[in-house]
Amino acid sequence: MVLRMSTLFLRTLREDPVDADVPSHKLLVRAGYIRRAAPGIYSWLPLGYMVLRNIETIVREEMNAIGAQEVHFPALLPREPYEATNRWEEYGDSLFRVKDRKGGDYLLGPTHEEMFTLLVKDLYSSYKDLPLSLYQIQTKYRDEQRPRAGILRGREFVMKDSYSFDVSDEAFMRSYQAHREAYIKIFDRLGLDYVIVAAMSGAMGGSASEEFLAIADNGEDTYVRSPGGYAANVEAVRTPVPAPVPYDDVPAAHVEDTPDTPTIDTLVDHLNGHFPRSDRPWGAADTLKNVLVVLRHPDGTREPLAIGVPGDREVDEKRLAAQVEPAEVQPFTDEDFAAHPTLAKGYIGPGVLGEKNASGIRYLVDPRVVEGTRWVTGADQHGKHVIDLVAGRDFTPDGTIEAAEVRDGDPAPDGSGPLETARGIEMGHIFQLGRKYSEALGLRVLDENGKLVTVTMGSYGVGVSRAVAAIVENSHDEAGIIWPREVAPADVHLVATGKDDAVFDAAERLAGELDAAGVRVLYDDRRGVSPGVKFKDSELVGVPTIVVVGRGLADGVIEVKDRRSGERREVALDAAVTELVDLCRAG
Ligand code: ATP
Ligand code: MG
Repeated sequence: MVLRMSTLFLRTLREDPVDADVPSHKLLVRAGYIRRAAPGIYSWLPLGYMVLRNIETIVREEMNAIGAQEVHFPALLPREPYEATNRWEEYGDSLFRVKDRKGGDYLLGPTHEEMFTLLVKDLYSSYKDLPLSLYQIQTKYRDEQRPRAGILRGREFVMKDSYSFDVSDEAFMRSYQAHREAYIKIFDRLGLDYVIVAAMSGAMGGSASEEFLAIADNGEDTYVRSPGGYAANVEAVRTPVPAPVPYDDVPAAHVEDTPDTPTIDTLVDHLNGHFPRSDRPWGAADTLKNVLVVLRHPDGTREPLAIGVPGDREVDEKRLAAQVEPAEVQPFTDEDFAAHPTLAKGYIGPGVLGEKNASGIRYLVDPRVVEGTRWVTGADQHGKHVIDLVAGRDFTPDGTIEAAEVRDGDPAPDGSGPLETARGIEMGHIFQLGRKYSEALGLRVLDENGKLVTVTMGSYGVGVSRAVAAIVENSHDEAGIIWPREVAPADVHLVATGKDDAVFDAAERLAGELDAAGVRVLYDDRRGVSPGVKFKDSELVGVPTIVVVGRGLADGVIEVKDRRSGERREVALDAAVTELVDLCRAG
């Protein structure tokens, strides 16, 4: 079927939408792929829905190829299973909870581990039934704290989620590998420039986990890579822990006046001015900065937390958030200060921090704060710091936390060289759930010896609607979108220009022949629309091959333009179908 611009439900826009700040959002709205319905909630217009379905097809084919079977769950789900795994509460404000007319609790599914686990429990009981992988392509609902960038982070979005069920860990590894390979094929076919990185498992629980990130400056995720092949989401980077340092020679800690030094810079200047070191000047890394936050737990309780990091590093919000999940990080307010009078704002130190100390506030430090390291830090009195405070001798934190920022040049945890940071968009996530859900929901099967064993699971997600936006982030220019062929809404954007009936007749014939040859055609058959407008639209819409039938027709030629390379050439009308079919086959 030929798509015709004259009747296609499409209005392209010349202006960027006011609420859009990333290219994919601007272009998808301007090119008539999506329309906003509410914050983080979008409608799909004909072209957008075609792209979405093309992506679904790729995902479906690759999932089927590894033997995963497609099912489809409701989006509207009962509370009980989520209660059994504690996620009714743990999901916090991100969960859309709804009531039915009888007052019963329901939710709009943010992810479906519980439902899949229960379904398999319902029907399967033997090791002979396994391995099993099930998947669905479903609309998910999450009341994201910051819906962003159109469909890149929506509150309603389409996800492919699959789940594997195995009787042993070895069998699980095969299911995991199969998914990993399927994901590589999916993201290759989507034409994305991506990396596979080690990841945190987040609210899902479980241990091993990897993410597929589309490389993009506008991505919300930061990842690191080393020359030796280490790659991880910054959230998952483990700081190499230094060896303990001997401290027999370190003088006793001494409190010094450091007036007007509430920041690390002012403190370092003051130290160098008043307490110079003999070996080298003081630096920010010699200081221990104590940052206060509040953790809001899913049950609503608020817990203050103190984090000690070397003064040359900031606390990375995302790293911290990943560590304390499902709790949410909130600011430590003036009221919180008022409630903890032992805290001297700007001069907070280990003297009062810690569960056993005066403030009672849990105190976690950066893994670099090992026994014997000596620090300049707050003396818990206004305008005073303590020097030569030795970890393990003068203070003992309640534990460590991976919250300090990771910087370019930091050593990779596996010794594979200096890290380099870059940004990406999380497109897919594969992880080992282990027995968290099967245990909570009682999914057991009989093994070869007739013994009941708990099934081990994996969970695997692809952001299908997010992929639409990520592909555009990866592939666009000033003029518009540039689709990879397999996801494009058409193979050829055929433009008829001018007023001449002969041109429209020839274009019409060509459209029909291409269609008959299996080429997907978007035909700009509009009369009375200027060539300039038609060309602009064709570049905005982003179909990979643009064919212009116009003036050249008198000489028996048409123009074929590659939207991706910008290259144009003339092709004889007689040879056009064969050429274009070949071109589309080539990708
Ligand atoms: P993120 O860290 O980006 O919030 P997540 O870790 O919450 O993602 P998963 O729960 O693993 O994501 O979901 C699987 C996939 O679904 C993700 O890899 C991503 O591609 C997609 N996804 C998650 N949240 C959204 C959203 N709000 N909008 C669009 N796609 C999403
Ligand atoms: Mg999320």
